Amino acid sequence: MRTINPASSTQDTATTAHYDEHALPDEPLRISDRVASLAESATLAVDAKAKALKSAGHPVIIFGSGEPDFPTPPHVVEAAVDACRDPRHHRYSPSGGLPELKEAIAAKTYRDSGYRVDAAQVIVTNGGKQAIYQAFAALLNPLDEVIVPAPYWPTYPEAISLAEAVSVPVLADETTGYRVTVEQLERARTEKTTMLVFCSPANPTGAVYSRDEIQAIGEWAAEHGLWVICDEIYEHMVYGEAEFHSLPVVAPAARERCVVVNGVAKSYAMPGWRVGWAVAPVGLTTAMTTLQSHATSNVCNIAQIATLAALTGNLHAVATMRDAFDRRRQLIVRMLNKIDGVDCPEPDGAFYVYASVKDLLGTTIRGQRIDTSLELAALLLDEAEVAVVPGEAFGTPGYLRLSYALHDDDLIEGIERIGRLLATAAR
Ligand code: PMP
Repeated sequence: MRTINPASSTQDTATTAHYDEHALPDEPLRISDRVASLAESATLAVDAKAKALKSAGHPVIIFGSGEPDFPTPPHVVEAAVDACRDPRHHRYSPSGGLPELKEAIAAKTYRDSGYRVDAAQVIVTNGGKQAIYQAFAALLNPLDEVIVPAPYWPTYPEAISLAEAVSVPVLADETTGYRVTVEQLERARTEKTTMLVFCSPANPTGAVYSRDEIQAIGEWAAEHGLWVICDEIYEHMVYGEAEFHSLPVVAPAARERCVVVNGVAKSYAMPGWRVGWAVAPVGLTTAMTTLQSHATSNVCNIAQIATLAALTGNLHAVATMRDAFDRRRQLIVRMLNKIDGVDCPEPDGAFYVYASVKDLLGTTIRGQRIDTSLELAALLLDEAEVAVVPGEAFGTPGYLRLSYALHDDDLIEGIERIGRLLATAAR
């Protein structure tokens, strides 16, 4: 180990010179290859740009958001306020989560999906995102392959590449309801394949796999000894006849290599509290906890206590949100499909629609030729002041993702603006 004296003049000069643009004019900032190759989260970037325009006074309507537009339920907030006053929560706590919260997560997992697990299998993380990152970091070696159904949530491939592994996208489109089949997965499998990512209900498409489809995929994974990350963060956002099913429940053979990821961001309107978790075989949970103990230590105790209140309370708030989302889902699909060039299948879950705009590519709108969904999304923001996320962000150009987690009036006004602009498209 090398010890550096912070006062040492050489070290000090080198460090401060980094921030002095006149001292080293041609020296590029050093960023590791691993991090330099990461793409910025396109969904967060669209959100940030739209919010900046909005705060500068533009009447932007934001369909880019990945968070419920509801406040966190009051009893959860109250639990957090009380926890703030308790000096017990002013201290470090176990890196893998408060014991009482791990118990509550195990109980909630059984309550909501029928998956019976032990608290020792649970790790509490800074959002589902950290659970996913750490699961890949703990499971993957360089050049391992991970099958990722596309369109995908952009964090999956980036977290895989941070583990120096390779993501292998398997494409599904609107003709199959954005769901992949076992046959497609099997075609993508090689001797290097170690994992599959499975998300249902899915972001960005809202696709919900049937019980039989999940069972077939789970059994296929088990047969080939593959690990599966089951992202269940949208478990409560299912509509109409659709049902949520947990992969390790309908395909028990997959359990010994299954990582269930979940969190309070969506179901309890708590994205900013940053609490998620993973449920995995104890050996993997232990490895992920060791990693977390060096990366971040425990998740904020106050947020963990708030999560405890959310998970041990009732599901009334989520039912209210689900009703609102269901109504908006039907409204947005109806309105979008009336626009020439837009084809929007009705999703069964989450709070997104994923609309094909392939028929609009090659047209000219307000004097601008539109060849990609990326260009179309930029035009919609500039000319209609409507923020959407282009399919490029999810590995499938030619589509737009719109979140319907926004007020009905804004939703109607926003889609009308899109309709008016796209009506001017000409070949
Ligand atoms: N998985 C999916 C599919 C998501 O859409 C999100 C949030 N956008 C997450 C996981 C992570 O959520 P969080 O880190 O806020 O818990």
